[in-house]
Amino acid sequence: MSQFLNQFSRRKFLLTVGASAVGSVFLKGCLGNPPDTTTQVQQVSAADISPAQAPETPKVKLGYIPIVEAAPLIIAKEKGFFAKYGMTEVELAKQASWGAMRDNTEIGSGGGGVDGGQYQMPMPHLITEGLITKGNQKIPMYVLAQLITQGNGIAVATKHQGKGLELNLAKGGKGLFDQLKSSKTPFTAAYTFAQVNQDFWIRYWLAAGGVNPDTEVKLIPVPAAQTVANMKTGTMDAFSTGDPWPYRIVNDKIGFMAVLTGEMWKNHPEEYFAMRADWADKNPKATKALLKGIMEAQQWLDNFDNREEAARILSGRNYFNLPVEILIEPFQGKYDMGDGRVIDDKSMAAYYWKDEKGSVSYPYKSHDLWFLTESVRWGFLPQDTLANAKALIDKVNREDIWKEAASEAGIAAADIPASTSRGVETFFDGIKFDPENPTAYLKSLKIKKVNV
Ligand code: CA
Repeated sequence: MSQFLNQFSRRKFLLTVGASAVGSVFLKGCLGNPPDTTTQVQQVSAADISPAQAPETPKVKLGYIPIVEAAPLIIAKEKGFFAKYGMTEVELAKQASWGAMRDNTEIGSGGGGVDGGQYQMPMPHLITEGLITKGNQKIPMYVLAQLITQGNGIAVATKHQGKGLELNLAKGGKGLFDQLKSSKTPFTAAYTFAQVNQDFWIRYWLAAGGVNPDTEVKLIPVPAAQTVANMKTGTMDAFSTGDPWPYRIVNDKIGFMAVLTGEMWKNHPEEYFAMRADWADKNPKATKALLKGIMEAQQWLDNFDNREEAARILSGRNYFNLPVEILIEPFQGKYDMGDGRVIDDKSMAAYYWKDEKGSVSYPYKSHDLWFLTESVRWGFLPQDTLANAKALIDKVNREDIWKEAASEAGIAAADIPASTSRGVETFFDGIKFDPENPTAYLKSLKIKKVNV
């Protein structure tokens, strides 16, 4: 432990010295990754790669956002798990925002963008259908693995402490929204990108508590890093994003955490690893090599003895550029919520490989369906999306490639799901999502935009 702290102090000193150089890099959409010479990471050695599995290219460019969802990509690179399977030239490109990630996916690495990387859902489906790209250009993508479960939360400004903004808003918190709306300063909350995970989590929380997110709240997209500043100046009442940002709010005493997403939906699907289909089709062995590296990183991350090292790597200057302490406790399932509540429960931590519900890494098609169903709920996608959902999911979700990669990597059969469905999902308010009947789920929800 003392050795660890020594390393941390040295690192902090070096961070201070290098701060101005890093600042200028933040101006670009794609932030790049200056090499961090302060971190000594023990890498695994390369495996004997059979010619049948040797990747077509060792080179790929993957985009990521500096939140804990990106950990499998960063760990796979830093611990040598990508290199072990022949992917020796993986470039991880830090993105300034999800909009930048979408744009860089659209132009591809050939145009200075990326070949794939980390995505919120259903971004790969929306990009495939040309719904969020410039000129509605259709860029087919493959969802290849889930990166993480849990690890997200909703942070609220300190001024709203003690007003009932907790998991169940119906217990009293709803009154604040009514009051703010009638005073013409509606509750303003941010998510990091419209119509994907973080937007869904805050909408679910509000609607479950009787607050209509479309009529009683002002929801706007703001990049996570900027939201901290907006909360400080009082222009933002709440925001929804991944660690370390909600926890940072607590640490900097700007706000408190009203809810962890794991409290709303235990073991919920979170962000995904996806690639442009053209890259994966051209490089099928390299795609599986990337998956093998990610799977190994996910298993490494789920060993809680490795999490202090993980926090040290992720917090580094070339990745999150944050004090390491902000990551250490949440990684152990310990959250000081900032309003007197402390959660100390390992089952509430972020998981990467498997959790109490089964595989985390395997991309269940039933979860793609939930994201599309929730898109229909809020009018983001037309109602007939559900009739065509199976075809779209079958095209985008390539769980078959995940399974091939898992078999080649010698993953135990017990860790390879037999079904593409995780079955019925249950939310904190008792609502159930049966992937066999998404319409019944929509009918059971009181607040929604769709007419079912
Ligand atoms: Ca997230």
